[in-house]
Amino acid sequence: MLATLKAEEQSQQLQLVEREDIEDEDDLFEAIDKLTSHGINAGDVKKLQDAGIYTCNGLMMHTKKHLTGIKGLSEAKVDKICEAADKLVNFGYITGSDALLKRKSVVRITTGSQALDELLGGGIETLAITEAFGEFRSGKTQLAHTLCVSTQLPTSMRGGNGKVAYIDTEGTFRPDRIVPIAERFGMDPGAVLDNIIYARAYTYEHQHNLLLGLAAKMSEEPFKLLIVDSIIALFRVDFTGRGELAERQQKLAQMLSRLTKIAEEFNVAVYMTNQVVADPGGGVFVSDPKKPAGGHVLAHAATVRLMFRKGKGEQRICKVFDAPNLPESEAVFQITPGGIADAKD
Ligand code: ATP
Ligand code: MG
Repeated sequence: MLATLKAEEQSQQLQLVEREDIEDEDDLFEAIDKLTSHGINAGDVKKLQDAGIYTCNGLMMHTKKHLTGIKGLSEAKVDKICEAADKLVNFGYITGSDALLKRKSVVRITTGSQALDELLGGGIETLAITEAFGEFRSGKTQLAHTLCVSTQLPTSMRGGNGKVAYIDTEGTFRPDRIVPIAERFGMDPGAVLDNIIYARAYTYEHQHNLLLGLAAKMSEEPFKLLIVDSIIALFRVDFTGRGELAERQQKLAQMLSRLTKIAEEFNVAVYMTNQVVADPGGGVFVSDPKKPAGGHVLAHAATVRLMFRKGKGEQRICKVFDAPNLPESEAVFQITPGGIADAKD
């Protein structure tokens, strides 16, 4: 009995779909090299790829000024490229029904806790940025570790059937934590670890370059999740002077815009964590008032904002702070050796 169960579990593991299948799902993700069959020479396609543009959808996300800034691409060439891409993908208006169809490509990835999934309308969504902020030890990084595993589950098990990219700015990724989480979900830890690409960033510039390099990887293999833990830490280290705040916010906005593009270009979920800062305007009746760091720039970039706080013992509480289509309510979950799970009372 146990043996058959194991075999079944194994067959459910890592049935990662081929990139071709993903492309068939939606013409949003047409590869940029298809332009060669529309009169664009391979050399020019290569120049776009070297600049981090791998899909027609990604092309549309750049201004003409940016594209003509790529070495070797004249204005005439850029016009020709955009015209060719326009034939492959509809960049204009679509009907509401088509928009609904497009939303169907959204995948929801389980957090490991049913209560938390329900709060989120099914899990962490692709095509969106989910931000978790909250006090230290509130479970932000533990959720990141759990998602590393659950993203790899087949969609029939509320996974994302895809790989994971992890950018760590605080040095808190623990590969050994992945092992018991994978075992809890009945997956082979070695295979799960092989499907995570990990980078430790030391400066905000390094962080930005790591994001640029991701397009090449995501165009080749089926990724479903990008984790940035945390988005803000290096900005707070690299821009310390008071006079540097405007520059910091501008660079942060550029980085967040890159994250939005990745989410939309490759249909991946972006999960980023954020720190909290003291909020002197929190009012005299609030003890220890806290607000998310990053100001308006971060507030506008995140699609779903979640606030984590500690409950009793290993219990944690998640509150929807801001989301386009979720009610402002709360869920209680628990941090266990197997990752995020429902709270046991
Ligand atoms: P920070 O702001 O410092 O980055 P965080 O919100 O990322 O904090 P986490 O690291 O996700 O916090 O959570 C830390 C909590 O996870 C600790 O309270 C710890 O007890 C719990 N935890 C860590 N590993 C395990 C484990 N193997 N089993 C149970 N609980 C664990
Ligand atoms: Mg953390």
